[in-house]
Amino acid sequence: MKAHDGIYLDGAWRPAAGRDVIEVVDPADEQVIARVPAGDAEDVDAAVRAARAALPGWAATPPAERAARLTALRDVLARRKDEIAETVTAELGSPPAFSQAVHAGLPITVAGSYAELAATHSFEEKVGNSTVLHEPIGVVAAITPWNYPLHQIVAKVAPALAAGCTVVLKPAEDTPLTAQLFAEAVHEARVPAGVFNLVTGLGPVAGQALAEHPGVDLVSFTGSTAVGRRIAATAGAAIKKVALELGGKSANVILPSADLARAVHAGVANVMSNSGQTCSAWTRMLVHRDRYDEAVELAATAAAKYGDRIGPLVNAKQQERVRSYIEKGLAEGARLVAGGPKSPRERGYFVAPTVFADVTPEMTVAQEEIFGPVLSVLRYEDEEDALRIANGTVYGLAGAVWAADEAEAVAFARRMDTGQVDINGGRFNPLAPFGGYKQSGVGRELGAHGLAEYLQTKSLQF
Ligand code: NAP
Ligand code: MG
Repeated sequence: MKAHDGIYLDGAWRPAAGRDVIEVVDPADEQVIARVPAGDAEDVDAAVRAARAALPGWAATPPAERAARLTALRDVLARRKDEIAETVTAELGSPPAFSQAVHAGLPITVAGSYAELAATHSFEEKVGNSTVLHEPIGVVAAITPWNYPLHQIVAKVAPALAAGCTVVLKPAEDTPLTAQLFAEAVHEARVPAGVFNLVTGLGPVAGQALAEHPGVDLVSFTGSTAVGRRIAATAGAAIKKVALELGGKSANVILPSADLARAVHAGVANVMSNSGQTCSAWTRMLVHRDRYDEAVELAATAAAKYGDRIGPLVNAKQQERVRSYIEKGLAEGARLVAGGPKSPRERGYFVAPTVFADVTPEMTVAQEEIFGPVLSVLRYEDEEDALRIANGTVYGLAGAVWAADEAEAVAFARRMDTGQVDINGGRFNPLAPFGGYKQSGVGRELGAHGLAEYLQTKSLQF
């Protein structure tokens, strides 16, 4: 695979100060496909200085011109869609059709939505005798994970640029090639030098140096709760704003009146897509006891059908982690009805689509984020019991409710402690705010709410 041997700094690819390299591995066959620089604290410092130098000019650029650059960026991403999809398949392992539709398709939509918002958003409002200015917060540190490598970059960089902020991106070490393609697209879109900078590198080195850098005004992080907690603590000590998109353990609540087959099939598809590496995945399916056995059978059959069609996990460590969660489920007494801990293939970091029945709410597989193709089916007695189970984790990122009557599903959804709920299989909306209640995060991404994260207000009184 094509790779740059430098970092993208102040409008050009330049040699990194850090001497180490990251080997990029194709998780489907375990082969090294490229090498990229592992930037260090010196690289991060140079990138932050470039972003800071570019800030006054970009912040003063009229929103219509910022919108034009974002439109150009959207167009480059659309034109290079096949290349993006191939790159995501190579370094993440996602099946080609899913890479095309979601990994390449979704970021085009999101970039387009911010091109439009930059042009139409009111960056000024009147409140009584005041004029309130919505100004860019400054230099943004964007730290992103590998599971939706381009989407998570665009969901931070596009609103930041729309707001007039400048950015330093530290992408996940497992998926740096997609990040390099994005930097190329930014360059082709003629975004001014220094407005966007990319430092590939390791989390504890480049990521930490970026999160701690005094020249950064906002740290926007997506990833594990453990790293998020650390970044929030560091930012708190420096009185710096953070946006955190962390884990999830979302509930798919199937009320007794629902179309059971439809709800179960959608639920299994949701968990198995991207090999279960989705923070908002509905990994707990909640079914009334009268329909429980039927639901388990439907889920087991649906999961078995996925068989060979799902991709590998991103790396050996994640594969091991997911398999150890499956072992833990067995040890705690859950009943395996599909898949299991055994690797389905000799090569590649694959895990079989797995379904557990007889899962009780306190089991590890019902409480912790597994981040693999593992579904837990839980039994509830009545609606109050379902609500207790649904809300009974430290997370609150997403969820689903199914019922014959939409109003019945909405009434239940109102009582859920979570940031996003799909009603009877509702479609994804790229303008709807996305983010977590409780330990799933702080702040929101996407749409106007996502833009607001990158703005701060100044009130002028008359
Ligand atoms: P992670 O370590 O939190 O990675 C997220 C990003 O943070 C990566 O760019 C990572 O760099 C960076 N990072 C790591 N340590 C850092 C530090 N001390 N300071 C600053 N940045 C740092 O997550 P992971 O190891 O890839 O995955 C572990 C688990 O996290 C998964 O099993 C899953 O449960 C959860 N996860 C959640 C999401 C989500 O969307 N909510 C996404 C991914 C993972 P490196 O790539 O070099 O580590
Ligand atoms: Mg990590």
